[in-house]
Amino acid sequence: MIAENLREVRQEIQESCALVGRDEKSVRLVAVTKTVSSQVMRQLTELKVLDLAENRADVFLDKKQELADIDTICWHFIGNLQRRKVKLIINEIDYFHALDNLSLAAEIQKRAEHVIKCFVEVNVSGETSKHGVTPAELSEFILALAPYDKIQVVGLMTMAPFGATVSVQRDIFGRLRQLQQEIEAANLVYAPCHELSMGMSNDFQAAIYEGATFIRVGTALVKDA
Ligand SMILES: *Cc1c(COP(=O)(O)O)cnc(C)c1O
Repeated sequence: MIAENLREVRQEIQESCALVGRDEKSVRLVAVTKTVSSQVMRQLTELKVLDLAENRADVFLDKKQELADIDTICWHFIGNLQRRKVKLIINEIDYFHALDNLSLAAEIQKRAEHVIKCFVEVNVSGETSKHGVTPAELSEFILALAPYDKIQVVGLMTMAPFGATVSVQRDIFGRLRQLQQEIEAANLVYAPCHELSMGMSNDFQAAIYEGATFIRVGTALVKDA
């Protein structure tokens, strides 16, 4: 039951926030709906979950069309985005969570009709299977985005290794927060970088302890839907 799942996730968000003295309103729950139908997404919106995330361009476009009657949805794209798909989706989304290379940035610049709120994805864990710029490359990457006035760097995004212990999760998320604070401190107009997109079903508690402002939760919300 989605309503029951949501109640449990909200409860855990609340408890995690309480543990570290955070206001639960500072954590935005983004529902990852990549594994479910638009009917389930509709149920989520009826439960006032209006931040929805997809990771495949074609599937996203179909679902957005099926939900076109709901104009309050905030759409997040969380997947690796191929350059040739940029023109299809970039003007259809509110947040892009996976900016990690300059050729993609150039394509976004070319196709976007308004400023796109982007998270720069950082590969903090160093796993070769993961996308993202390395921590060492990050500041140079951010500076290289300056000419692209269609890109606003709202924050950083990462993923912890699957099956990591809580202490490893916290280490990864804490390192992303340090990087975020460094960029925020540079006061770049195009890169305010106040936000942290981190934490999924298995590790959002650790992410909240370390300052996540957007958590991307799929399975825990939509299981048994
Ligand atoms: C699938 C996915 C999630 C959600 O994962 P769950 O474990 O189902 O919560 C979050 N972020 C990204 C980038 C994803 O691809």
